Amino acid sequence: MNGDLRIRSVNSHPVHLDGKCVLYWMQRSQRGRENAALNHAIDQANQLKLPVICAFSLYDQFPNAERRHFRFMIQGLIDASLELSEKNVPFIIRFGHPPQVINQLVTELQPALIVSDENPLKIPALWRDSLAQELKVAFQLVDADVVIPSRHFVKEEYAARTIRPKIHKVLASYLKPVPNPKANHACNEGTTPTGEPLDETHLMSLLKVAGASEIPAYKGGSVEAHKRLKLFITKRLSRYSTERNEPTPYMTSELSAHLHFGNIDPIHVVLNVLESGDPQSSIDSYIEEFIVRRELAINYCLFNPNYDSLKGCPDWALKTLAKHKDDPRTYLYTFDQLERAESHDPLWNASQKEMVLTGRMHNYMRMYWAKKILEWTPDAETAFETTLKLNDRWEMDGRDANGYTGVAWAIGGKHDRPWGERAIFGMVRFMSYESTRKKFDSQGYIDWVAKIEKGTIKRD
Ligand SMILES: Cc1cc2nc3c(=O)[nH]c(=O)nc-3n(C[C@H](O)[C@H](O)[C@H](O)COP(=O)(O)OP(=O)(O)OC[C@H]3O[C@@H](n4cnc5c(N)ncnc54)[C@H](O)[C@@H]3O)c2cc1C
Repeated sequence: MNGDLRIRSVNSHPVHLDGKCVLYWMQRSQRGRENAALNHAIDQANQLKLPVICAFSLYDQFPNAERRHFRFMIQGLIDASLELSEKNVPFIIRFGHPPQVINQLVTELQPALIVSDENPLKIPALWRDSLAQELKVAFQLVDADVVIPSRHFVKEEYAARTIRPKIHKVLASYLKPVPNPKANHACNEGTTPTGEPLDETHLMSLLKVAGASEIPAYKGGSVEAHKRLKLFITKRLSRYSTERNEPTPYMTSELSAHLHFGNIDPIHVVLNVLESGDPQSSIDSYIEEFIVRRELAINYCLFNPNYDSLKGCPDWALKTLAKHKDDPRTYLYTFDQLERAESHDPLWNASQKEMVLTGRMHNYMRMYWAKKILEWTPDAETAFETTLKLNDRWEMDGRDANGYTGVAWAIGGKHDRPWGERAIFGMVRFMSYESTRKKFDSQGYIDWVAKIEKGTIKRD
Protein backbone atom coordinates (compact mmCIF):
# COMPACT_ATOMS: atom_id res chain seq x y z
CA MET A 1 0.00 0.00 0.00
CA ASN A 2 1.19 3.55 -0.75
CA GLY A 3 0.96 4.21 2.97
CA ASP A 4 2.17 7.82 3.15
CA LEU A 5 -0.89 9.32 1.54
CA ARG A 6 -3.34 7.13 3.41
CA ILE A 7 -2.04 8.04 6.87
CA ARG A 8 -1.61 11.54 8.28
CA SER A 9 -0.99 13.14 11.68
CA VAL A 10 -3.60 15.56 12.98
CA ASN A 11 -1.23 17.06 15.57
CA SER A 12 2.47 17.11 16.32
CA HIS A 13 2.36 15.44 19.74
CA PRO A 14 4.58 12.39 20.19
CA VAL A 15 3.49 8.82 20.77
CA HIS A 16 3.53 8.33 24.56
CA LEU A 17 5.87 5.43 25.16
CA ASP A 18 4.48 4.97 28.67
CA GLY A 19 0.87 4.85 27.34
CA LYS A 20 -1.35 1.91 28.31
CA CYS A 21 -2.97 1.10 24.96
CA VAL A 22 -3.57 2.34 21.41
CA LEU A 23 -7.06 3.82 21.07
CA TYR A 24 -8.87 3.39 17.76
CA TRP A 25 -11.72 5.90 17.51
CA MET A 26 -14.00 4.22 14.97
CA GLN A 27 -16.09 6.76 13.07
CA ARG A 28 -16.68 6.20 9.38
CA SER A 29 -15.10 2.74 8.94
CA GLN A 30 -17.66 0.77 10.91
CA ARG A 31 -16.20 -2.70 10.38
CA GLY A 32 -13.73 -4.99 12.10
CA ARG A 33 -12.26 -6.59 9.00
CA GLU A 34 -10.29 -5.17 6.07
CA ASN A 35 -10.12 -1.85 7.84
CA ALA A 36 -6.88 0.03 7.14
CA ALA A 37 -7.43 2.39 10.09
CA LEU A 38 -7.90 -0.47 12.54
CA ASN A 39 -4.88 -2.21 11.00
CA HIS A 40 -2.73 0.85 11.58
CA ALA A 41 -3.83 0.93 15.24
CA ILE A 42 -3.05 -2.80 15.56
CA ASP A 43 0.38 -2.47 13.89
CA GLN A 44 1.33 0.42 16.15
CA ALA A 45 0.08 -1.38 19.26
CA ASN A 46 1.93 -4.58 18.37
CA GLN A 47 5.14 -2.62 17.89
CA LEU A 48 4.64 -0.86 21.22
CA LYS A 49 3.62 -4.19 22.87
CA LEU A 50 0.31 -2.66 23.94
CA PRO A 51 -3.33 -3.68 23.52
CA VAL A 52 -5.70 -1.91 21.11
CA ILE A 53 -9.07 -0.63 22.29
CA CYS A 54 -11.73 0.44 19.81
CA ALA A 55 -14.25 3.11 20.85
CA PHE A 56 -17.40 4.37 19.17
CA SER A 57 -19.52 7.27 20.33
CA LEU A 58 -23.23 6.98 19.56
CA TYR A 59 -24.50 10.52 19.20
CA ASP A 60 -28.26 10.70 18.81
CA GLN A 61 -28.20 14.47 18.14
CA PHE A 62 -26.31 13.98 14.85
CA PRO A 63 -27.86 16.51 12.41
CA ASN A 64 -30.42 14.93 10.06
CA ALA A 65 -29.83 11.42 11.36
CA GLU A 66 -33.13 9.61 11.82
CA ARG A 67 -34.27 6.39 13.47
CA ARG A 68 -33.85 4.39 10.25
CA HIS A 69 -30.18 5.46 10.07
CA PHE A 70 -29.49 4.61 13.69
CA ARG A 71 -31.00 1.14 13.36
CA PHE A 72 -28.90 0.46 10.25
CA MET A 73 -25.80 1.77 12.01
CA ILE A 74 -26.39 -0.25 15.18
CA GLN A 75 -26.79 -3.43 13.13
CA GLY A 76 -23.38 -2.64 11.64
CA LEU A 77 -21.81 -1.97 15.03
CA ILE A 78 -22.96 -5.38 16.24
CA ASP A 79 -21.18 -7.07 13.31
CA ALA A 80 -18.13 -4.90 13.95
CA SER A 81 -18.03 -5.89 17.63
CA LEU A 82 -17.91 -9.60 16.71
CA GLU A 83 -15.17 -9.04 14.12
CA LEU A 84 -13.16 -6.96 16.59
CA SER A 85 -13.36 -9.66 19.25
CA GLU A 86 -11.82 -12.14 16.78
CA LYS A 87 -8.85 -9.76 16.62
CA ASN A 88 -8.41 -9.38 20.38
CA VAL A 89 -9.73 -5.84 20.17
CA PRO A 90 -12.32 -4.88 22.80
CA PHE A 91 -15.10 -2.50 21.76
CA ILE A 92 -16.41 0.34 23.88
CA ILE A 93 -19.66 2.07 22.92
CA ARG A 94 -20.70 5.19 24.80
CA PHE A 95 -23.44 7.74 24.22
CA GLY A 96 -22.62 11.42 23.80
CA HIS A 97 -20.91 14.12 21.79
CA PRO A 98 -18.02 12.25 20.13
CA PRO A 99 -15.05 14.53 20.91
CA GLN A 100 -16.14 14.77 24.54
CA VAL A 101 -16.64 11.02 24.82
CA ILE A 102 -13.26 10.27 23.27
CA ASN A 103 -11.53 12.90 25.39
CA GLN A 104 -13.03 11.31 28.51
CA LEU A 105 -11.79 7.90 27.33
CA VAL A 106 -8.32 9.32 26.78
CA THR A 107 -8.30 10.37 30.44
CA GLU A 108 -9.50 6.93 31.54
CA LEU A 109 -7.39 4.73 29.24
CA GLN A 110 -4.22 6.82 28.84
CA PRO A 111 -3.43 5.75 25.28
CA ALA A 112 0.03 6.03 23.74
CA LEU A 113 -1.59 7.05 20.44
CA ILE A 114 -5.04 7.70 19.00
CA VAL A 115 -5.96 6.50 15.52
CA SER A 116 -9.15 7.35 13.65
CA ASP A 117 -10.53 7.12 10.14
CA GLU A 118 -10.57 9.93 7.57
CA ASN A 119 -13.82 11.61 6.52
CA PRO A 120 -14.09 14.57 4.10
CA LEU A 121 -17.30 16.00 5.59
CA LYS A 122 -17.59 19.03 7.88
CA ILE A 123 -19.03 17.56 11.07
CA PRO A 124 -16.42 14.80 11.51
CA ALA A 125 -13.72 17.38 10.70
CA LEU A 126 -15.07 19.69 13.43
CA TRP A 127 -15.09 16.80 15.90
CA ARG A 128 -11.53 15.86 15.01
CA ASP A 129 -10.32 19.44 15.38
CA SER A 130 -12.15 19.87 18.66
CA LEU A 131 -10.60 16.65 20.06
CA ALA A 132 -7.16 17.55 18.69
CA GLN A 133 -7.19 20.80 20.68
CA GLU A 134 -7.63 18.87 23.92
CA LEU A 135 -5.09 16.14 23.25
CA LYS A 136 -1.48 15.94 24.42
CA VAL A 137 -0.86 12.69 22.60
CA ALA A 138 -0.30 11.75 18.95
CA PHE A 139 -3.49 11.60 16.86
CA GLN A 140 -3.39 10.00 13.39
CA LEU A 141 -5.97 9.46 10.65
CA VAL A 142 -6.16 6.70 8.07
CA ASP A 143 -8.11 7.04 4.81
CA ALA A 144 -9.74 3.63 4.94
CA ASP A 145 -12.90 4.10 2.86
CA VAL A 146 -11.55 4.98 -0.56
CA VAL A 147 -9.52 3.13 -3.14
CA ILE A 148 -7.16 6.02 -3.96
CA PRO A 149 -6.29 8.07 -0.85
CA SER A 150 -8.21 11.35 -1.09
CA ARG A 151 -5.00 13.31 -0.53
CA HIS A 152 -3.49 11.87 -3.68
CA PHE A 153 -5.36 14.79 -5.30
CA VAL A 154 -4.09 18.20 -4.31
CA LYS A 155 -7.05 20.34 -5.34
CA GLU A 156 -10.69 20.24 -6.34
CA GLU A 157 -11.10 18.34 -9.61
CA TYR A 158 -13.28 20.00 -12.22
CA ALA A 159 -15.11 16.94 -13.55
CA ALA A 160 -14.94 13.18 -14.06
CA ARG A 161 -12.82 13.77 -17.15
CA THR A 162 -10.09 15.51 -15.11
CA ILE A 163 -9.94 13.01 -12.22
CA ARG A 164 -10.37 9.85 -14.35
CA PRO A 165 -6.88 9.74 -15.92
CA LYS A 166 -5.27 10.55 -12.56
CA ILE A 167 -7.14 7.64 -10.97
CA HIS A 168 -6.33 5.14 -13.70
CA LYS A 169 -2.65 6.11 -13.65
CA VAL A 170 -2.20 4.93 -10.05
CA LEU A 171 -5.09 2.49 -9.61
CA ALA A 172 -3.11 -0.73 -9.92
CA SER A 173 -0.72 0.33 -7.17
CA TYR A 174 -3.63 0.68 -4.70
CA LEU A 175 -5.43 -2.54 -5.59
CA LYS A 176 -3.80 -4.70 -2.94
CA PRO A 177 -5.99 -6.68 -0.52
CA VAL A 178 -6.22 -5.06 2.91
CA PRO A 179 -4.85 -7.59 5.43
CA ASN A 180 -6.43 -8.71 8.70
CA PRO A 181 -3.82 -8.59 11.46
CA LYS A 182 -4.66 -9.46 15.06
CA ALA A 183 -3.71 -7.53 18.17
CA ASN A 184 -1.02 -9.46 20.04
CA HIS A 185 -1.94 -8.10 23.44
CA ALA A 186 -5.45 -8.66 24.77
CA CYS A 187 -7.04 -6.55 27.49
CA ASN A 188 -10.18 -6.62 29.59
CA GLU A 189 -11.72 -3.30 28.66
CA GLY A 190 -14.79 -3.20 26.48
CA THR A 191 -18.17 -2.25 27.75
CA THR A 192 -21.46 -1.39 26.18
CA PRO A 193 -23.53 1.37 27.83
CA THR A 194 -25.08 -1.24 30.14
CA GLY A 195 -22.16 -3.67 30.39
CA GLU A 196 -24.16 -6.28 28.40
CA PRO A 197 -23.30 -7.67 24.93
CA LEU A 198 -24.54 -5.37 22.17
CA ASP A 199 -28.25 -5.77 21.57
CA GLU A 200 -30.04 -4.02 18.71
CA THR A 201 -33.41 -3.56 20.44
CA HIS A 202 -31.85 -2.40 23.66
CA LEU A 203 -29.54 0.11 21.98
CA MET A 204 -32.43 1.48 19.90
CA SER A 205 -34.46 1.93 23.09
CA LEU A 206 -31.72 4.12 24.57
CA LEU A 207 -31.78 6.60 21.67
CA LYS A 208 -33.65 9.84 22.13
CA VAL A 209 -34.32 10.30 18.44
CA ALA A 210 -37.60 10.38 16.52
CA GLY A 211 -38.07 10.95 12.80
CA ALA A 212 -38.00 8.86 9.64
CA SER A 213 -39.50 5.43 10.24
CA GLU A 214 -37.22 2.44 10.67
CA ILE A 215 -36.76 -0.20 7.97
CA PRO A 216 -35.64 -3.26 9.92
CA ALA A 217 -35.58 -5.46 6.78
CA TYR A 218 -32.98 -3.20 5.12
CA LYS A 219 -30.14 -4.37 7.30
CA GLY A 220 -26.85 -2.66 7.96
CA GLY A 221 -23.55 -4.35 8.75
CA SER A 222 -20.69 -6.18 7.15
CA VAL A 223 -22.48 -9.54 6.90
CA GLU A 224 -25.24 -7.99 4.83
CA ALA A 225 -22.78 -5.89 2.79
CA HIS A 226 -20.82 -9.01 1.78
CA LYS A 227 -24.09 -10.82 0.96
CA ARG A 228 -25.13 -7.93 -1.30
CA LEU A 229 -21.75 -7.94 -3.02
CA LYS A 230 -22.04 -11.67 -3.70
CA LEU A 231 -25.58 -11.29 -5.04
CA PHE A 232 -24.46 -8.43 -7.27
CA ILE A 233 -21.54 -10.38 -8.70
CA THR A 234 -23.45 -13.59 -9.29
CA LYS A 235 -26.74 -12.17 -10.56
CA ARG A 236 -26.41 -8.55 -11.71
CA LEU A 237 -22.92 -7.45 -12.68
CA SER A 238 -22.98 -9.13 -16.09
CA ARG A 239 -25.87 -6.83 -17.08
CA TYR A 240 -24.62 -3.70 -15.31
CA SER A 241 -23.36 -1.85 -18.38
CA THR A 242 -26.60 -2.28 -20.29
CA GLU A 243 -29.27 -2.33 -17.58
CA ARG A 244 -27.99 -0.23 -14.71
CA ASN A 245 -30.44 2.58 -15.52
CA GLU A 246 -33.42 0.23 -15.27
CA PRO A 247 -35.08 0.61 -11.85
CA THR A 248 -37.37 -2.46 -11.93
CA PRO A 249 -35.70 -4.65 -10.90
CA TYR A 250 -32.43 -3.01 -9.80
CA MET A 251 -29.33 -4.24 -11.65
CA THR A 252 -27.03 -2.23 -9.38
CA SER A 253 -25.17 -3.37 -6.27
CA GLU A 254 -27.29 -1.47 -3.69
CA LEU A 255 -24.14 -1.07 -1.62
CA SER A 256 -24.26 2.71 -1.13
CA ALA A 257 -25.66 2.70 2.41
CA HIS A 258 -23.15 0.03 3.49
CA LEU A 259 -20.37 2.11 1.96
CA HIS A 260 -21.68 5.20 3.73
CA PHE A 261 -21.47 3.42 7.09
CA GLY A 262 -18.12 1.86 6.25
CA ASN A 263 -19.46 -1.71 6.47
CA ILE A 264 -17.31 -2.95 3.58
CA ASP A 265 -13.84 -2.11 2.32
CA PRO A 266 -13.97 -0.46 -1.15
CA ILE A 267 -10.76 -2.21 -2.27
CA HIS A 268 -12.34 -5.58 -1.42
CA VAL A 269 -15.35 -4.69 -3.59
CA VAL A 270 -13.19 -3.68 -6.55
CA LEU A 271 -10.94 -6.75 -6.34
CA ASN A 272 -13.99 -9.03 -6.30
CA VAL A 273 -15.56 -7.24 -9.25
CA LEU A 274 -12.29 -7.47 -11.20
CA GLU A 275 -12.03 -11.20 -10.49
CA SER A 276 -15.68 -11.91 -11.37
CA GLY A 277 -15.03 -12.98 -14.97
CA ASP A 278 -17.97 -10.82 -16.08
CA PRO A 279 -17.88 -8.87 -19.35
CA GLN A 280 -15.23 -6.13 -19.39
CA SER A 281 -17.85 -3.52 -20.35
CA SER A 282 -19.78 -4.18 -17.13
CA ILE A 283 -16.64 -4.22 -15.00
CA ASP A 284 -15.49 -0.92 -16.54
CA SER A 285 -18.89 0.61 -16.05
CA TYR A 286 -18.96 -0.39 -12.36
CA ILE A 287 -15.41 0.89 -11.77
CA GLU A 288 -16.47 4.21 -13.33
CA GLU A 289 -19.30 4.65 -10.80
CA PHE A 290 -17.59 3.03 -7.84
CA ILE A 291 -14.20 4.71 -8.09
CA VAL A 292 -14.33 7.64 -10.52
CA ARG A 293 -17.74 9.08 -9.54
CA ARG A 294 -17.55 8.18 -5.85
CA GLU A 295 -14.03 9.49 -5.37
CA LEU A 296 -14.82 12.62 -7.41
CA ALA A 297 -17.63 13.27 -4.90
CA ILE A 298 -15.22 12.78 -2.00
CA ASN A 299 -12.73 15.13 -3.69
CA TYR A 300 -15.47 17.78 -4.03
CA CYS A 301 -16.40 17.61 -0.34
CA LEU A 302 -12.76 17.57 0.77
CA PHE A 303 -11.72 20.64 -1.20
CA ASN A 304 -14.88 22.76 -1.55
CA PRO A 305 -16.21 24.19 1.76
CA ASN A 306 -19.53 25.03 0.03
CA TYR A 307 -20.24 21.43 -0.94
CA ASP A 308 -23.54 21.49 0.97
CA SER A 309 -25.04 24.55 -0.73
CA LEU A 310 -25.66 25.92 -4.20
CA LYS A 311 -22.57 28.12 -3.73
CA GLY A 312 -20.34 25.10 -4.43
CA CYS A 313 -21.64 24.86 -8.01
CA PRO A 314 -19.76 26.29 -11.01
CA ASP A 315 -20.06 29.95 -12.01
CA TRP A 316 -21.67 29.25 -15.37
CA ALA A 317 -24.51 27.41 -13.60
CA LEU A 318 -24.99 30.02 -10.87
CA LYS A 319 -25.18 32.76 -13.52
CA THR A 320 -27.66 30.93 -15.74
CA LEU A 321 -29.87 29.94 -12.78
CA ALA A 322 -29.85 33.57 -11.54
CA LYS A 323 -30.85 34.79 -15.00
CA HIS A 324 -33.88 32.45 -14.92
CA LYS A 325 -34.75 33.00 -11.26
CA ASP A 326 -37.98 34.87 -12.04
CA ASP A 327 -39.18 32.57 -14.81
CA PRO A 328 -42.78 31.56 -14.15
CA ARG A 329 -43.23 28.09 -12.64
CA THR A 330 -46.30 26.13 -13.81
CA TYR A 331 -46.27 24.07 -10.61
CA LEU A 332 -45.06 25.18 -7.19
CA TYR A 333 -45.03 22.79 -4.24
CA THR A 334 -44.18 23.24 -0.58
CA PHE A 335 -41.67 21.01 1.19
CA ASP A 336 -44.52 19.17 2.94
CA GLN A 337 -46.40 18.52 -0.30
CA LEU A 338 -43.27 17.09 -1.86
CA GLU A 339 -42.47 15.02 1.19
CA ARG A 340 -45.98 13.53 1.08
CA ALA A 341 -45.54 12.77 -2.67
CA GLU A 342 -48.41 15.08 -3.64
CA SER A 343 -47.18 16.35 -7.01
CA HIS A 344 -49.18 16.08 -10.26
CA ASP A 345 -46.54 13.67 -11.66
CA PRO A 346 -47.12 9.96 -10.90
CA LEU A 347 -43.52 9.02 -11.78
CA TRP A 348 -42.09 11.61 -9.39
CA ASN A 349 -44.53 10.58 -6.65
CA ALA A 350 -43.50 6.94 -7.11
CA SER A 351 -39.82 7.81 -6.66
CA GLN A 352 -40.53 9.86 -3.54
CA LYS A 353 -42.57 6.98 -2.13
CA GLU A 354 -39.88 4.46 -2.99
CA MET A 355 -37.41 6.51 -0.94
CA VAL A 356 -39.72 6.95 2.05
CA LEU A 357 -40.86 3.32 2.10
CA THR A 358 -37.59 1.54 1.32
CA GLY A 359 -34.77 4.02 2.17
CA ARG A 360 -33.61 3.83 -1.46
CA MET A 361 -34.19 5.45 -4.82
CA HIS A 362 -32.64 4.24 -8.03
CA ASN A 363 -29.86 6.48 -9.41
CA TYR A 364 -31.76 7.24 -12.61
CA MET A 365 -34.85 8.24 -10.66
CA ARG A 366 -32.76 10.37 -8.27
CA MET A 367 -31.65 12.49 -11.21
CA TYR A 368 -35.21 12.98 -12.46
CA TRP A 369 -36.56 13.50 -8.91
CA ALA A 370 -34.05 16.27 -8.08
CA LYS A 371 -34.43 18.03 -11.45
CA LYS A 372 -38.19 18.24 -10.96
CA ILE A 373 -37.70 19.84 -7.54
CA LEU A 374 -35.74 22.60 -9.32
CA GLU A 375 -38.70 23.05 -11.67
CA TRP A 376 -41.35 23.09 -8.90
CA THR A 377 -39.82 25.31 -6.20
CA PRO A 378 -39.44 29.13 -6.23
CA ASP A 379 -35.68 29.27 -6.90
CA ALA A 380 -32.54 27.16 -7.15
CA GLU A 381 -31.47 27.81 -3.52
CA THR A 382 -34.82 26.51 -2.24
CA ALA A 383 -34.59 23.58 -4.63
CA PHE A 384 -31.10 22.69 -3.36
CA GLU A 385 -32.14 22.84 0.31
CA THR A 386 -35.38 20.93 -0.28
CA THR A 387 -33.69 18.18 -2.27
CA LEU A 388 -30.89 17.73 0.21
CA LYS A 389 -33.21 17.71 3.20
CA LEU A 390 -35.51 15.08 1.67
CA ASN A 391 -32.52 13.03 0.49
CA ASP A 392 -30.78 13.09 3.85
CA ARG A 393 -33.90 12.40 5.89
CA TRP A 394 -35.18 9.42 3.91
CA GLU A 395 -32.30 7.83 1.97
CA MET A 396 -30.41 5.23 3.99
CA ASP A 397 -27.24 6.42 2.24
CA GLY A 398 -28.01 10.12 2.93
CA ARG A 399 -25.57 12.66 4.46
CA ASP A 400 -22.87 11.28 2.18
CA ALA A 401 -20.37 12.98 -0.15
CA ASN A 402 -22.23 11.28 -3.03
CA GLY A 403 -25.48 12.91 -1.93
CA TYR A 404 -24.08 16.45 -1.74
CA THR A 405 -22.50 15.94 -5.14
CA GLY A 406 -25.58 14.32 -6.69
CA VAL A 407 -27.78 17.23 -5.57
CA ALA A 408 -25.20 19.77 -6.79
CA TRP A 409 -25.05 17.94 -10.14
CA ALA A 410 -28.83 17.91 -10.59
CA ILE A 411 -29.62 21.44 -9.39
CA GLY A 412 -26.37 23.32 -10.02
CA GLY A 413 -24.63 21.58 -12.95
CA LYS A 414 -21.69 20.41 -10.78
CA HIS A 415 -19.30 18.20 -12.76
CA ASP A 416 -21.59 18.67 -15.78
CA ARG A 417 -21.42 21.04 -18.76
CA PRO A 418 -23.78 23.74 -20.05
CA TRP A 419 -26.66 22.49 -22.25
CA GLY A 420 -29.14 24.33 -24.49
CA GLU A 421 -30.80 27.23 -22.66
CA ARG A 422 -34.42 26.87 -21.51
CA ALA A 423 -36.83 28.27 -18.91
CA ILE A 424 -36.01 27.88 -15.18
CA PHE A 425 -33.01 25.60 -15.80
CA GLY A 426 -31.11 28.04 -18.00
CA MET A 427 -28.21 25.96 -19.29
CA VAL A 428 -28.38 23.34 -16.52
CA ARG A 429 -29.28 19.93 -17.94
CA PHE A 430 -33.03 19.26 -18.08
CA MET A 431 -34.86 15.93 -17.80
CA SER A 432 -38.45 15.46 -18.90
CA TYR A 433 -41.10 12.89 -18.06
CA GLU A 434 -41.28 12.04 -21.75
CA SER A 435 -37.54 11.37 -22.16
CA THR A 436 -37.48 9.34 -18.95
CA ARG A 437 -40.49 7.32 -20.12
CA LYS A 438 -38.56 6.36 -23.27
CA LYS A 439 -35.55 5.14 -21.27
CA PHE A 440 -37.40 2.50 -19.26
CA ASP A 441 -40.83 1.16 -18.43
CA SER A 442 -41.90 4.01 -16.17
CA GLN A 443 -45.44 2.63 -15.74
CA GLY A 444 -43.85 -0.63 -14.62
CA TYR A 445 -41.88 1.33 -12.02
CA ILE A 446 -44.99 3.19 -10.81
CA ASP A 447 -46.86 -0.13 -10.46
CA TRP A 448 -43.90 -1.72 -8.67
CA VAL A 449 -43.80 1.08 -6.07
CA ALA A 450 -47.59 0.81 -5.65
CA LYS A 451 -47.14 -2.87 -4.79
CA ILE A 452 -44.42 -2.00 -2.28
CA GLU A 453 -46.83 0.52 -0.74
CA LYS A 454 -49.58 -2.09 -0.48
CA GLY A 455 -47.13 -4.61 0.99
CA THR A 456 -47.56 -7.16 -1.83
CA ILE A 457 -43.85 -6.82 -2.68
CA LYS A 458 -41.26 -6.82 0.09
CA ARG A 459 -37.75 -5.45 -0.35
CA ASP A 460 -34.80 -6.38 1.80
C1 LIG B 1 -29.94 13.82 -6.63
C2 LIG B 1 -29.01 12.70 -6.25
C3 LIG B 1 -28.86 12.36 -4.92
C4 LIG B 1 -27.98 11.34 -4.55
N1 LIG B 1 -27.84 11.04 -3.22
C5 LIG B 1 -26.96 10.09 -2.84
C6 LIG B 1 -26.74 9.83 -1.45
O1 LIG B 1 -27.33 10.47 -0.56
N2 LIG B 1 -25.84 8.86 -1.12
C7 LIG B 1 -25.18 8.14 -2.07
O2 LIG B 1 -24.37 7.26 -1.72
N3 LIG B 1 -25.35 8.37 -3.38
C8 LIG B 1 -26.22 9.33 -3.79
N4 LIG B 1 -26.38 9.58 -5.12
C9 LIG B 1 -25.55 8.84 -6.10
C10 LIG B 1 -26.18 7.52 -6.63
O3 LIG B 1 -27.51 7.74 -6.99
C11 LIG B 1 -26.12 6.41 -5.59
O4 LIG B 1 -24.81 6.28 -5.07
C12 LIG B 1 -26.52 5.06 -6.20
O5 LIG B 1 -27.84 5.15 -6.71
C13 LIG B 1 -26.46 3.99 -5.13
O6 LIG B 1 -26.97 2.76 -5.62
P1 LIG B 1 -26.03 1.50 -5.79
O7 LIG B 1 -25.21 1.30 -4.57
O8 LIG B 1 -26.92 0.39 -6.20
O9 LIG B 1 -25.10 1.99 -6.98
P2 LIG B 1 -24.21 1.16 -8.01
O10 LIG B 1 -24.65 1.53 -9.37
O11 LIG B 1 -24.13 -0.26 -7.67
O12 LIG B 1 -22.77 1.84 -7.83
C14 LIG B 1 -21.81 1.37 -6.88
C15 LIG B 1 -21.38 2.49 -5.99
O13 LIG B 1 -20.78 3.53 -6.76
C16 LIG B 1 -21.10 4.79 -6.20
N5 LIG B 1 -21.90 5.56 -7.15
C17 LIG B 1 -22.81 5.11 -8.03
N6 LIG B 1 -23.34 6.13 -8.73
C18 LIG B 1 -22.75 7.24 -8.28
C19 LIG B 1 -22.85 8.63 -8.61
N7 LIG B 1 -23.66 9.06 -9.57
N8 LIG B 1 -22.09 9.50 -7.92
C20 LIG B 1 -21.24 9.09 -6.98
N9 LIG B 1 -21.08 7.80 -6.62
C21 LIG B 1 -21.83 6.89 -7.26
C22 LIG B 1 -21.94 4.52 -4.96
O14 LIG B 1 -21.09 4.50 -3.84
C23 LIG B 1 -22.52 3.16 -5.25
O15 LIG B 1 -22.86 2.43 -4.10
C24 LIG B 1 -27.26 10.62 -5.53
C25 LIG B 1 -27.42 10.96 -6.88
C26 LIG B 1 -28.29 11.98 -7.24
C27 LIG B 1 -28.46 12.33 -8.69
